[in-house]
Amino acid sequence: MNKTIYIIGSGFASLSASCYLAQAGHKVVVLEKNPTLGGRARQLKKEGFIFDIGPTWYWMPDVFERFFSDFNKTPLDYYHLDKLNPAYEVYFSKEESKTISGNLDEIYEMFEEEEPRSSLHLKKFLESAQKNYETAIKELVYRPGVSPIELITPKTIIRANQFLSTIRKQVRKNIKSEKLIKILEFPVLFLGAKPSNTPAFYNFMNYADFGLGTWHPKGGMYKVIEGTVTLAKSLGVEFHTNANVEQITVENSKVKGITVNGIFTETEIVLSGADYHHTETLLPKEHRQYSENYWEKKTFAPSALLFYVALNKPLQNVSHHTLFFDCDFEKHAETIYDNPSWPDEPLFYASFPSKTDSSLAPKNKEAATFLIPLAPGIKDTMEIRELYFNKIIDRLEKVTNQEIKSNILFKESFCVNDFIKQYNSYKGNAYGLANTLLQTAFLRPKIKSKKVKNLFFTGQLTVPGPGVPPALISGKIAANLILKNMQS
Ligand SMILES: Cc1cc2nc3c(=O)[nH]c(=O)nc-3n(C[C@H](O)[C@H](O)[C@H](O)COP(=O)(O)OP(=O)(O)OC[C@H]3O[C@@H](n4cnc5c(N)ncnc54)[C@H](O)[C@@H]3O)c2cc1C
Repeated sequence: MNKTIYIIGSGFASLSASCYLAQAGHKVVVLEKNPTLGGRARQLKKEGFIFDIGPTWYWMPDVFERFFSDFNKTPLDYYHLDKLNPAYEVYFSKEESKTISGNLDEIYEMFEEEEPRSSLHLKKFLESAQKNYETAIKELVYRPGVSPIELITPKTIIRANQFLSTIRKQVRKNIKSEKLIKILEFPVLFLGAKPSNTPAFYNFMNYADFGLGTWHPKGGMYKVIEGTVTLAKSLGVEFHTNANVEQITVENSKVKGITVNGIFTETEIVLSGADYHHTETLLPKEHRQYSENYWEKKTFAPSALLFYVALNKPLQNVSHHTLFFDCDFEKHAETIYDNPSWPDEPLFYASFPSKTDSSLAPKNKEAATFLIPLAPGIKDTMEIRELYFNKIIDRLEKVTNQEIKSNILFKESFCVNDFIKQYNSYKGNAYGLANTLLQTAFLRPKIKSKKVKNLFFTGQLTVPGPGVPPALISGKIAANLILKNMQS
C-alpha cells in the first residue's frame, strides 16, 4: 500500500532517500527549514561570483554513477564533469609546493623525486587501498549498520588486521619524507578524525584520491544538488522550503505526526536527514535513544571557519584546490581533537574554482573559498573570524608571493554559530560524526529508531559517515530499510 513519507532536511542524504522512496511508489514530502535546498551543500551567489558553501571536492565518481544508474540515469544527464589535472597542490613553505597530478604515473614520479624507492611503497600501498576500496564500496558501505555480522565476509576477514592498525602507522612504516606523509594522510581527514585514530582499512580514501581522481562538476558542486532535485521532482517528490520541523509527536511508541511552522500534520512515517542529535531533541525525552552524555563522548568531525572571497584579479601560483600545510599539523590537530581551542597557526585549504571553471567568476576575477578546520563548540565571534582571516591571507600572500588584500571586492564568512543556526548542527560540527574504529558501521547511531516505530534517520551522523558520496549511500540504505519495514 502506498504511504506518505515526510523527510526532514534536503541535504544529499535526504534527497537520495527521497528518490528511492518515490521510485517505490510512495508519496514523499521533503521539509527544509532554510530558504534553499541542499543542506550543507548550498550555494552563495553574489555580484557574478558563485561559491559552494560546503563541499568542493568531487571524489568517488563511481558512487554518483551508481546512484543515478539506480534510476536509469547517469550524472551526465544532469551536469558536466571534468577530471582535474592537476588534482590539487600542497604548499609546505614559501614557494615550496607539490603538485598532485591527475595522472598516477606522474604521481609515482613525484614521489620518487622526493624520496628514492617511495614510488615502490606507494604502488604496494595503493594496491591494498584499491582492494579495500572494492571491499568497502561493494561489500560494506551499503549495509545498514544493524549488526557486526554485516562486516564479516570472506574478503573482510582477511583484512581484519587493518581495523586494528591506523593510517598513521601504515603510512609511516615505509615512507619517511614528512611531505609525502602529509600528502598520504590528507585524504582521511575527510573522514573527520586524526590519521592516528583512523583504521588503516580507510586507506581506500587514498585510492579514491590517486586512483579515481578529483573531478569538478561544471558550475560547482551545487549542480549535483540541482541534478538530484530534478531527478527527485521527476519521480514526484514534493519540496517545501522555509519549513521548520519543530516537533515529532509519538503515540503508543509510534510516529503520530510532525509540527511544521506551528502546524501539526498527521503522518505515519518520518525520515530525518537533519543532524541526528537535533532530530532526537524534537522528540519527548523518553523517546530519545541517545543521552546528552552519549553525544558528549563522541568524536565529532571538525567544525570550520570558512571565507568566500571575491577578488578583482586572477591569483598566481595556486591551483583549483590548494592545501596550505606550511605549519605544524600535529599542533593544529591537538586543538581540534584533544584540547578544543583556536589554533595558533592554522593549516588551511583554499579553493579557486574559477581557475578551471570560468562560470564561477566574472572575467579576469577570481572566486576563492578558504577553510580552516576547527574544534566543534569553540567560541565564535566576528572579531576572531577577522583575526584568522588576516592570519591566513598574510600567509597566503607570503607563501604564494603576491598582493591579495587590496584586491578583495567582498567577503562572507561562515563558522560554528552559522552551522548551529542554519543546520541545527551539534556544537556546530561541519560534517558529522568521525569514522573512528569505535564509530564505524554498526557502532554508529542507528538508521532505525529503537524506541519509536516508523522513525528513521539518514545522513552524516549515521552509516556510513561523512562526505557527499556516503550521504548518497546513507539515503539509499535508509530508504531500503523503510521499504523493508513496510513489508514486515
Ligand atoms: C564546509 C564543508 C566542506 C565539505 N567538503 C566536502 C567535500 O569537499 N567533499 C565531500 O564529499 N564532502 C564534503 N563535506 C561533507 C558533506 O558536505 C556532507 O557530509 C553532506 O553534504 C551531508 O549531507 P547530509 O544530507 O547528511 O546533511 P545536511 O546537508 O546537513 O542536510 C541536513 C538538512 O536538514 C535541515 N534541517 C535541520 N534541522 C531541520 C528542521 N528542524 N526542520 C527542517 N529541516 C532541518 C538542514 O537545514 C539541512 O538542510 C563538507 C562539509 C562542509 C560543511
